[in-house]
Amino acid sequence: MDNLDTLVAGFKRFHQRYYQTDQTLFARLKSGQQPGVLIIGCSDSRIDPALLTESAPGDLLVVRNVANLVPSYAPDVDCHSLGAAVEYAVNSLGVAHIVVLGHSQCGGIQALINGLDNNAPESSVGKWVSHAGAVRDAVLKDNPDKTPEEQARICEQASVVASLENLATYPWVKHGLSNATLQIHGWYFDLQVGELLGWSSDTDNFDPLVGR
Ligand SMILES: [Zn+2]
Repeated sequence: MDNLDTLVAGFKRFHQRYYQTDQTLFARLKSGQQPGVLIIGCSDSRIDPALLTESAPGDLLVVRNVANLVPSYAPDVDCHSLGAAVEYAVNSLGVAHIVVLGHSQCGGIQALINGLDNNAPESSVGKWVSHAGAVRDAVLKDNPDKTPEEQARICEQASVVASLENLATYPWVKHGLSNATLQIHGWYFDLQVGELLGWSSDTDNFDPLVGR
């Protein structure tokens, strides 16, 4: 895409096909939102949570960052963008589910594996992905004989699981989990084969969600 006119033309079609057509939905949305799910996804242009799940406006609250990471709760340090979205989703909107959506071929995880966090202290990407530095270290230590592609996939999936653990350190999430008003899920979109996988705490595996 080399021209923003494409985006404006796309909005025109959206307006005609959806905004003007689905008056019930948009009349309801004008008075507020009640999404049931918060998705924490990657900024990657190929991984749009609403498109992947064929969701409508109002269905999902979405926050996206490089490598779909959730740092552990640290209100006095930084990462307020992610924390604000989690707090708003749980406290104000009362979402019932939070999904951390990882994916294959993640550039952020590749930067982490390449050691950007250690090699380029001035890099914002390096600083950000360092939240999963311990995950990377463990994956490379435990899987020295895997190919780089396999190591990347293991790291992409392990960082989703680590993000779920970090998510549970947020007081609002902790509260929702303990009184069973909130569930958290780890998903992984495999771009190579077009498959959506879900993490199971029972098996500690990512398995296909479709056909489960
Ligand atoms: Zn990514």
